[in-house]
Amino acid sequence: TNSPVTVTVTGASGQISYGMLFRIAAGAMLGHDTPVRLRLLEIPAAIRSAEGVAMELDDGAYPLLSSIDITDDPRTAFDGSGVALLVGARPRTKGMERADLLAANGAIFTEHGTAINAVAAADVKVLVVGNPANTNAFIAMSNAPDVPRSRFTALTRLDHNRAIAQLSRKTGAPAADIAKVAVWGNHSATQYPDLFHATVAGRPALDVVNDEAWLTDDFISTVQQRGTAIIAARGSSSAASAASAAIDHIHDWTLGAPDWVSMAVCSDGSYGVPDGLISSFPVTCEAGDYTIVPDLEIGDFSRTRIDASVRELVDERAAVVELGFA
Ligand code: NDP
Repeated sequence: TNSPVTVTVTGASGQISYGMLFRIAAGAMLGHDTPVRLRLLEIPAAIRSAEGVAMELDDGAYPLLSSIDITDDPRTAFDGSGVALLVGARPRTKGMERADLLAANGAIFTEHGTAINAVAAADVKVLVVGNPANTNAFIAMSNAPDVPRSRFTALTRLDHNRAIAQLSRKTGAPAADIAKVAVWGNHSATQYPDLFHATVAGRPALDVVNDEAWLTDDFISTVQQRGTAIIAARGSSSAASAASAAIDHIHDWTLGAPDWVSMAVCSDGSYGVPDGLISSFPVTCEAGDYTIVPDLEIGDFSRTRIDASVRELVDERAAVVELGFA
């Protein structure tokens, strides 16, 4: 058995956290030989509800769950944190302008980044799920100058998994036969799910599909609009699938992955994405580190779409810099 890892979850009373915490406690994220200390961060109004979730976690009698602490203080929540899952964010409410949303979240992610910088473990892995996820991660990173930039990431794994699911449906091949899918850019409607490098049972996906209209129209918009379609069908936003993707993201970053995955990470200038921007790339994961897949050929079709999503990120960055959060 490994030594316990402190896992901090913000927005711990929310729907995504509810889909995530029980699986973390069961070992699905860090492996079945790593005990977990859970730190649940909530706003004061949601502390009582977090206590209810903790009661249910207790009742799971999980052998790997060493402790659960609940707090509304970020310094306590991130103390010694090895994995920080930043799920809580201010949702856009009626009449709220984009600038108000950025300002509300800017304050939250400034506070969380500052606390991570001060008290988290030296090798902390940060995953931002709360929207606007890429820019929230950028704000946290900017306020944590002593933590390597590579430790700040945002979730595009759900988009990646959705892309695999669509390709699987289209081809009839099981998800396990699909490889080398990529998601580029922002976790927003401008994201670009890319099948140009993908394979189905080792064959180029584009040859297997052999339907250009599906690729250029249906596939991309279905993945981009999947969250909206789930709200329409279910009456509330995707939660279990987002939770599952967040667990996949940290699992693969920590323990490695056999195939490419997509993660929004701090750009080193690869593929023309400005240095320092948190943008989604295909990556490989090995033993606690990830590497952006190098030297992919990017055709005009992909270039246009990557550039459009990156432009949106550049605008979001400019807005939060203007507001003084980075
Ligand atoms: P959820 O748990 O459903 O969602 C949390 C965040 O994840 C939202 O920002 C949501 O964005 C985002 N998200 C990212 N990807 C997805 C996806 N694919 N599907 C759905 N959501 C996605 O929200 P709840 O309202 O249930 O819970 C939020 C919790 O956070 C509450 O308990 C609240 O008290 C807490 N909170 C904490 C704050 C803090 O720490 N200071 C501040 C505000 C809230 P989107 O809104 O765009 O759907």
